[in-house]
Amino acid sequence: MKAEIIAVGTEILLGEIVNTNAQLAAQALAQVGIVSQYQTVVGDNPTRLTDAIAIAEGRSDLLILIGGLGPTPDDLTKQTLAEHLAVKLVEDQDALAKLQQWQQQMDRKMPANNLAQALYLAGGQPLKNRVGLAVGCYYKTADHSYFILPGPPREFGPMLAEAVTPLLPEIAGSPQKIVSKMARFYGLGESFLATQLADIITQQQNPTIATYLKGFEIGVRVTAQAASTELAEAAIEPVMQQIVARLAPYFVGYGEDRRLPDEVVTLLKQAKLTVTAAESLTAGLFQADLASVAGASTVFAGGFVTYANDIKAKVLGIPANVISEHGVVSREVAQEMAERSRQLIGSDFGLGFTGVAGPDQLEGQAVGTTYIALARPQQFTIVQEYHFAGARNEIRQRAALAGFKLLYDELNKN
Ligand code: ATP
Ligand code: MG
Repeated sequence: MKAEIIAVGTEILLGEIVNTNAQLAAQALAQVGIVSQYQTVVGDNPTRLTDAIAIAEGRSDLLILIGGLGPTPDDLTKQTLAEHLAVKLVEDQDALAKLQQWQQQMDRKMPANNLAQALYLAGGQPLKNRVGLAVGCYYKTADHSYFILPGPPREFGPMLAEAVTPLLPEIAGSPQKIVSKMARFYGLGESFLATQLADIITQQQNPTIATYLKGFEIGVRVTAQAASTELAEAAIEPVMQQIVARLAPYFVGYGEDRRLPDEVVTLLKQAKLTVTAAESLTAGLFQADLASVAGASTVFAGGFVTYANDIKAKVLGIPANVISEHGVVSREVAQEMAERSRQLIGSDFGLGFTGVAGPDQLEGQAVGTTYIALARPQQFTIVQEYHFAGARNEIRQRAALAGFKLLYDELNKN
């Protein structure tokens, strides 16, 4: 079941009003799993409206026409659809009675074209307008279903909720469930990711695949529609496995609202392990990210911000000659920071961060050059060299996250 929303109104085309009715209609469709692949806006012109209807019939099963049910000469939606389908318009008695009552109250003679508001397509189902005078309509042919709904949002909203929404599950056929799952990746660009998944992305219709930037991570959301949640999940799983397998080195977990620090805290908790850090260029970002996760206290007792060289010596006890021989931005200093912080705090893991955040280079090292070390229990310390791109604070954030990724990979080894 594919639906198309056709908003009728020159005002929308001119940008004078926002097509809020289409938004509400689209939400109602999504709720019952009816796919909407097109939304059209067409002016108050019968020829162009007829064209729009014909095009929509060629690619959609359900057409939702909104606007142009009023009494003025430019309101031609019903008349146009009736002519297109070669059906007559007939009066809805309830709507007619309401119009007559309104006319008496206003003490006016009803202009003939006011009657147009009580008309609906013969053989269709009139839809009551609780708020206004124009009756809506639901009409079915062998191939298509049509709704005709009033434009004013105060009339459209109640009619959508009270008369259209209750009909949608039946129109949708078997009620559809939409389920989605997100896998997140870190350390690769969005275009690289898209290239890696190009064949999967272009092939798929159900499930569908979309990518999103989530801070410094990239989310790949797989969405499936099926008769039940279980069937939708079953459709997602093999596609998701394929995606994760292809990008395994970059995979950092599932879930829309989670990030690398959440994953690391969860893994540390599960393994009953603790972490600390000594940070230079990041100056506490890693530890702040860690502490931003609820329950971090079970895995993190404290750590160090050692920005200046003499503080690295004074607080961590790094021998002055290590710094003078290798430079402060070096493998050796990162390793000392990681190992000494681990020993001082008595935690299972210790991370050391040293690098050039910029904007100026340091000791002849280019901006972005960073060393991150991970000291581990009963094993040699890992030291990684990075060259981060971006402005100062981007480099600092990327460095903190790279520390999380290093630890994440370590925790996933077994
Ligand atoms: P009326 O009896 O007021 O003429 P109508 O059903 O003929 O109602 P339109 O003439 O198309 O509807 O639009 C009436 C008003 O409703 C517009 O001036 C606009 O303010 C609002 N409207 C129409 N279409 C939309 C839409 N798609 N989204 C939001 N507002 C709309
Ligand atoms: Mg109108």
